[in-house]
Amino acid sequence: MDIIANFIDGQYQAPCQQQYIDNIEPATGQVYGQIPDSGDDDVELAVAAARKALPAWQLMPLEQRADYLIAIAQEIERRIDELATAETIDNGKPISLAREVDIPRAASNFKFFAHACSQFASESHAMAGNAINYTLRQPVGIVGCISPWNLPLYLFTWKIAPALAAGNCVIAKPSEVTPKTAALLGEICQKVGLPNGVLNILHGTGAMVGQAICQHEEVKAISFTGGTSTGAAIAQLLAPKFKKLSLELGGKNPALIFADCDFDSTLEQVFRASFANQGQICLCASRLYIERPIYEKFKQALIAKAQALQVSDPLLETSKMGALVSKAHLQKVLSYIAAAKSEGGVVLTGGEQIQLSGRCQQGYFLQATLIENLANSARCNQEEIFGPVITLQPFDNDQEALTLANDSQYGLAATVWTNHLARAHQLAENLNTGIVWINCWLLRDLRTPFGGMNHSGLGREGGVEAMRFFTESKNVCVKY
Ligand code: NAD
Repeated sequence: MDIIANFIDGQYQAPCQQQYIDNIEPATGQVYGQIPDSGDDDVELAVAAARKALPAWQLMPLEQRADYLIAIAQEIERRIDELATAETIDNGKPISLAREVDIPRAASNFKFFAHACSQFASESHAMAGNAINYTLRQPVGIVGCISPWNLPLYLFTWKIAPALAAGNCVIAKPSEVTPKTAALLGEICQKVGLPNGVLNILHGTGAMVGQAICQHEEVKAISFTGGTSTGAAIAQLLAPKFKKLSLELGGKNPALIFADCDFDSTLEQVFRASFANQGQICLCASRLYIERPIYEKFKQALIAKAQALQVSDPLLETSKMGALVSKAHLQKVLSYIAAAKSEGGVVLTGGEQIQLSGRCQQGYFLQATLIENLANSARCNQEEIFGPVITLQPFDNDQEALTLANDSQYGLAATVWTNHLARAHQLAENLNTGIVWINCWLLRDLRTPFGGMNHSGLGREGGVEAMRFFTESKNVCVKY
């Protein structure tokens, strides 16, 4: 049994109340470990450690701070196989995905912000009449970072790295569904000698320890990634406390596929955008709008690819589609397929849970699923499913495609597939999403602003946006 501990003040510690939660491997449905069910008293310990560490960390020359982040990145790279395996066991994602995307990206996050902090400048505004303003950007202090289960170490470090780079001490909480790689990050911090208390990692549920981190008076900013309803609850809780808050929430991302696209490359990339990580990426395309002249051809090609996509034990090197993250999540996704049928949807392929043989007999597997014939107002076109379930609809012109795409409470990411330059730019300007990819998906430059509009969140992460979020600006006006 793998028993995880909290990482507080540079040491692994059992939760104060000695309460634990089971950790389940989604590919087998079996309990394989336990994680702390932490609460208020664990948060107190972590805050005390962070408080003690903060003055020296804030004052440390930034080159030295950056050196720690680089060392963490290198250690992640050195342990890539171990971390990828841990991620796959915890999350159910194919091992090749964990090794090629999740873990390298976690290392990149630390490297990127190690460099970003040395390039982060503040403004100066000279005035007529012998006066000048300059802006100080100072660390916020102790900050909370809360992340979801779909890209566990990848998103955990996407918050922690800029927070540390900007000179803050961090109380971080991974999802209770996928705690393992976050727990291993503590070992990495010990190995590189990160000063005690600079990064504290607490495990447990959102309702207990997550909320306790958010509410603690000394935690001055919260960076949260997760579901929209959780984000709304946190926003409501924190509004009267006037804390800085960054919310990266759900999505219902449209893909606009035009008849003039490069058919084969679009098919390949749209398929990946739909089903990567079992469709459990906030940026996954989930509503495919296809221009009518190629609708049938594109649909048939997608069906063929979906049927060829073998669902298998995610620990196999050949695995391309693993398990959904939990039984509850599988049931939620299945309930959407049932809802689609009741709303007149036609399941073109998939739609059924899969039972594998051998060690994965009790795992949470689902076929890649394509559905058509649903109104845009149907639940499967409006609510986030967050699984391998995609809807298809034809459209006849640019305006109709745009209207359908924007008919959503979400606004995270959109993709446009066309060779018509003016159309691409025009759509990019008018799509109500924080990110638009044209003829690509998930092509990421970490300097760019990352985040969504409307119910997809508040604020942006990435590059200078993250450095700004994790600092307070103070204007100093000097008359001379
Ligand atoms: P979730 O909202 O259930 O949980 C996210 C995290 O918040 C977990 O660590 C959880 O323990 C914690 N939490 C839950 N309730 C809390 C509370 N009251 N106070 C403080 N913390 C609390 O989300 P999930 O199911 O883990 O993740 C899936 C969701 O995340 C999807 O909606 C997906 O779209 C979204 N997501 C968004 C992005 C993005 O960048 N916009 C990226 C990845 C995932």
